[in-house]
Amino acid sequence: MSGGVLIVGGSVGGIRTARALRNEGYAGAVTVVEAESHLPYDKPPLSKVPLDGDAHVPLLTAEEASELGIELVLGSVAVELRTQANQLVLADGAILDYDELVIATGAAARPSPWTGPDVHVLRTLSDARALRESLKGAAHLLVVGAGFIGAEVASLARKQGIDVTIVDPAPIPMARIVGNELGERLSDLHRTNGVETKFGTTVSALDRVDGGLRAQLSDGSEFPVDAVVVGIGAVLDVGWLESSGLTLDDGVVCDEYGRTPDVAHIHAVGDISKWYQPRLDKSARVEHWTNAVEQANTLAHNIVHPDDLQAHDPVAYVWSDQYNWKIQLFGTRDTTADPLVVEQSDPLRLAAIWQDSDGRASGGFTVNWPKASVQLRRTIAAGGPADAVHTQLSTPAVKR
Ligand SMILES: Cc1cc2nc3c(=O)[nH]c(=O)nc-3n(C[C@H](O)[C@H](O)[C@H](O)COP(=O)(O)OP(=O)(O)OC[C@H]3O[C@@H](n4cnc5c(N)ncnc54)[C@H](O)[C@@H]3O)c2cc1C
Repeated sequence: MSGGVLIVGGSVGGIRTARALRNEGYAGAVTVVEAESHLPYDKPPLSKVPLDGDAHVPLLTAEEASELGIELVLGSVAVELRTQANQLVLADGAILDYDELVIATGAAARPSPWTGPDVHVLRTLSDARALRESLKGAAHLLVVGAGFIGAEVASLARKQGIDVTIVDPAPIPMARIVGNELGERLSDLHRTNGVETKFGTTVSALDRVDGGLRAQLSDGSEFPVDAVVVGIGAVLDVGWLESSGLTLDDGVVCDEYGRTPDVAHIHAVGDISKWYQPRLDKSARVEHWTNAVEQANTLAHNIVHPDDLQAHDPVAYVWSDQYNWKIQLFGTRDTTADPLVVEQSDPLRLAAIWQDSDGRASGGFTVNWPKASVQLRRTIAAGGPADAVHTQLSTPAVKR
């Protein structure tokens, strides 16, 4: 096989790049090498589709791949990148040539300190299916880590009538992202949905007793559980790139166009990539779905039109579905001032606006309020004043 664009990683970053190359009119070969054997699927549904459903939401079917002329090389792991020779080496010894190479290998779940058939992480479709199997007939789930994934799994389990205990070493787990006040609201959301929260607490031991699992916590409590989900973040695997000559610094370092600065014809997108962001005047890695999609579109344009380079300068965005809350988060949280908050009850709607020292909206948080989300995101992108968007959102017309 030779030439064209070779993409390593067949999840949202890689597949959206392949599709966007065709949208941009690229006529050469497009090949996607993917370690997993499943047809490409999306990750957010893994923690959002109800536990009695199948979480497989395709990113590209076999028919679409064939129509678009995208070759999928599934079940193949890239083990070495020879940048001098424009070659990618696979675990089975195969060597693929490329004109342009896109690294879209994302991240993996941080491994659980405990193992066993009833102890799970959640990053892949196989993880999601194993978790669903394990929770069939389960009475009590222990969730370790109250970040987005832990919170979403707790929410799914409660909807299924499963008792849930959620443990996190931080006293207010989401405070690091949204501040103490909103973090406390998110902690309360678990409690009002019947979850037992053990925050500021760690798991001291998870023992197998009489064939079942028994958890011991640092607060001295002990209880049996049927299954455990460990959601303690993600890790990167850049080992296969170490001899490539690329700059690796908590990800694959790229300029604002998605190109690696030291080696020509290599690009990166999605969770593994660390693009320079002009808005922040620094390179930053972003582990969110929308970022991967936007980078993929920008990168495909830049590969096809190298004389008309476009920068990707995002307002960070992530959503999360927890119980009956649809949460959206934008931009960056400035801590120089308290957020401006607009809230409405019955049904609950909430918007919090963070502002920088000049009073510009730097970030925001909304609950169940799509109209406010659109307005906030637009204001943040334009560097508009926080108090103006606060006033707009407070008017009855917008509140509806
Ligand atoms: C359960 C879950 C829920 C999420 N929910 C949300 C959400 O609600 N909102 C949001 O914004 N974000 C969410 N995310 C994050 C979002 O899904 C990621 O940001 C996105 O998947 C990143 O896409 P990616 O293509 O960069 O990497 P990944 O999705 O990590 O995919 C990388 C792919 O590369 C493959 N690969 C890795 N190494 C190799 C190799 N050496 N050779 C070949 N292939 C390789 C992997 O098998 C994988 O398929 C969620 C993530 C998870 C796990």
